Amino acid sequence: MNILVFGPNGSGKGTQGAIVQKKYNMPHIESGAIFRKNIGEGTELGKKAKAYIDRGDLVPDDITIPMILNRLQEPDCKKGWLLDGFPRNKVQAETLAKALKDAGIKLDYVIEIVLPRDVAKLRITGRRLCVNDNNHPNHIAFDAIKPVEKNGKLVCRVCGGDLKTRPDDQDDAAIDKRHDIYYDTKTGTMAAVNYFKGLKNTKVISVDGRPSIPEVSESIMKHL
Ligand code: AMP
Repeated sequence: MNILVFGPNGSGKGTQGAIVQKKYNMPHIESGAIFRKNIGEGTELGKKAKAYIDRGDLVPDDITIPMILNRLQEPDCKKGWLLDGFPRNKVQAETLAKALKDAGIKLDYVIEIVLPRDVAKLRITGRRLCVNDNNHPNHIAFDAIKPVEKNGKLVCRVCGGDLKTRPDDQDDAAIDKRHDIYYDTKTGTMAAVNYFKGLKNTKVISVDGRPSIPEVSESIMKHL
């Protein structure tokens, strides 16, 4: 099964993607996480991507598109994949659809997590990333997923790991820019979502992202 997951930053798409990935045992390919890993390791790709990411801009297509298309050709993707964070604009959507068509690969589902922009913004600044697994949900403003305190500091509620924040999550302008791109229906991410809504053989599952994590995943799972 091959799945794309869309949602604005703060919608919980990474968390939901991880739940789907676990259930179906498929690779969870997160473009943002690939960039962050490369930045952490100081690779050439990471060096090229960093300034764009810090500002909340998209990394240019000529870097991002081959990175993802190459990743989809790795052997673990033969049994299916869940792609999260890509495509992010209409050009990426069209390029991906063409590459899949040329390779005879079917896109089975597109999951769209729908969240109003003001709610998404509130969710971003309070989220904390676990150093062991960035899909362990922790948020300082939501009781259900509040980090726990250990020896006077907040640690991951799932595994006790250290927590960190993403620099682009603490920068107001970067958050707004990421949301400008997401909610842009002309060339941005919503244009990509609408592109897939217009394809005949792809089923688009749109779910309300406002309820709790288990409720959102239940709404998704019942369609898969
Ligand atoms: P995310 O973890 O999905 O919020 O992505 C973090 C950042 O990585 C984004 O704000 C972009 O700068 C960059 N990025 C992730 N995915 C893409 C993409 N498909 N195209 C361009 N840039 C991307």
